[in-house]
Amino acid sequence: MKLILLGAPGAGKGTQAAVISRELGIPAISTGNILRAAIQEGTPTGMKAKTYMDEGHLVPDEVIIGIIKERLAEPDCAKGFILDGVPRTIAQAEALEAAGIKFDHVVSLEIADATIMERMSGRRVCGGELVTRKDDKPETVKNRLAVYHRETEPLKDFYRERGVLYPVEDMGPVEATSKAILAILRQDG
Ligand code: ADP
Repeated sequence: MKLILLGAPGAGKGTQAAVISRELGIPAISTGNILRAAIQEGTPTGMKAKTYMDEGHLVPDEVIIGIIKERLAEPDCAKGFILDGVPRTIAQAEALEAAGIKFDHVVSLEIADATIMERMSGRRVCGGELVTRKDDKPETVKNRLAVYHRETEPLKDFYRERGVLYPVEDMGPVEATSKAILAILRQDG
């Protein structure tokens, strides 16, 4: 099964991707995680991506397309995968389509910006510790939300036209949202 999790930053894509991955036994692939690992390792891709990420801007499409194609060619993706945080632009979606990848479900996590802002401020002081992610600063979160609405939300129409868009309202508790997502996947899968 090939899936995409769409949703604003802070919508809980990573959390839900982990649950689905465990339930369905397919890998969850996050371009954000791949990029953060590249930064840690100090690779040329990581160095290039860092400036964009710190400001809450999107990393250029050609960088992302290269990363994701390479990752999807690995053997653990043969039976399917969940994409978390990619595609994020129409150009990225078109590149995946041009590579012959057909998605079964694109689950769009629907959540209000105000709820996200509230959650992110909670994340900042988690356990009294300061943020570990520089892009979780309120100004940057606002910027990432604006980028989401401008660049990524049009993907809903893109996948609706292909008959694979499944919006899921955020239910509050993680488990309730997971249950709603899994019900969709099992019903149609
Ligand atoms: P979030 O969904 O909370 O924004 P991610 O870990 O998915 O977190 O992404 C963090 C940052 O990494 C983004 O703000 C962006 O700079 C970069 N990034 C991740 N995935 C992509 C992508 N598909 N296209 C462009 N930039 C990306």
